[in-house]
Amino acid sequence: GLSAEAYSLRHEISVVGDNVPPPFTSFESTGFPSEILREVQSAGFSAPTPIQAQSWPVALQSRDIVAIAKTGSGKTLGYLLPGFIHLKRTRNNPQMGPTVLVLSPTRELATQIQDEAVKFGKSSRISCVCLYGGAPKGPQLRDIDRGADVVVATPGRLNDILEMKRISLHQVSYLVLDEADRMLDMGFEPQIRKIVKEIPARRQTLMYTATWPKEVRKIAADLLVKPVQVNIGNVD
Ligand code: ADP
Ligand code: MG
Repeated sequence: GLSAEAYSLRHEISVVGDNVPPPFTSFESTGFPSEILREVQSAGFSAPTPIQAQSWPVALQSRDIVAIAKTGSGKTLGYLLPGFIHLKRTRNNPQMGPTVLVLSPTRELATQIQDEAVKFGKSSRISCVCLYGGAPKGPQLRDIDRGADVVVATPGRLNDILEMKRISLHQVSYLVLDEADRMLDMGFEPQIRKIVKEIPARRQTLMYTATWPKEVRKIAADLLVKPVQVNIGNVD
């Protein structure tokens, strides 16, 4: 295979941060447990995408990440698979609240993330619920009461459920802000900040975004601690 440097050049990976680990250029080099490797194999994937190759070793070091990569580059598994490893390490009780929280701008995107989490997490017995607006709260509240390791939510609906005191985020230690630029464009910044206030400061935070304007830089500076920045392709 290619050396890490040649791989990064070829795939236009650039990183900003101290002692950033080299990319995982193959699934075998990830050290993921066999049940997860089996899932990626049966999905027919032959190699990590560049954003996965560079996010995974950084995320597995429990470091904060800002990842900037365009749509369709495989960002979902970029944060979900290290989230599954994080879950195994924490061994929290899902009845007490989720350990992994993914915020996503829309119902459609949240549902897609949920589907991916269910597909790739089932063999690791990871439970996942999805919370979004435009649907009755009752079934979502019942899902929460059954317990979930992973919650995927739109900021508006999660904030409503928090205000009802029907979910606890005190166990969350792996927070993902997916499509951060879109969430800010949609006006979700106040809800995001209220949600983050309910999460312990001692956590890992990962932000995925397609663009890197000053509003996104500002919230990243407020919510992330010494993040490693991973860029795929050209970033302005
Ligand atoms: P993004 O969030 O960057 O827009 P997604 O995570 O939705 O991208 O992934 C886009 C598509 O690529 C999905 O259908 C996903 O299942 C697929 N995919 C993810 N990882 C890989 C991989 N390593 N190899 C091939 N396809 C992949
Ligand atoms: Mg995505």
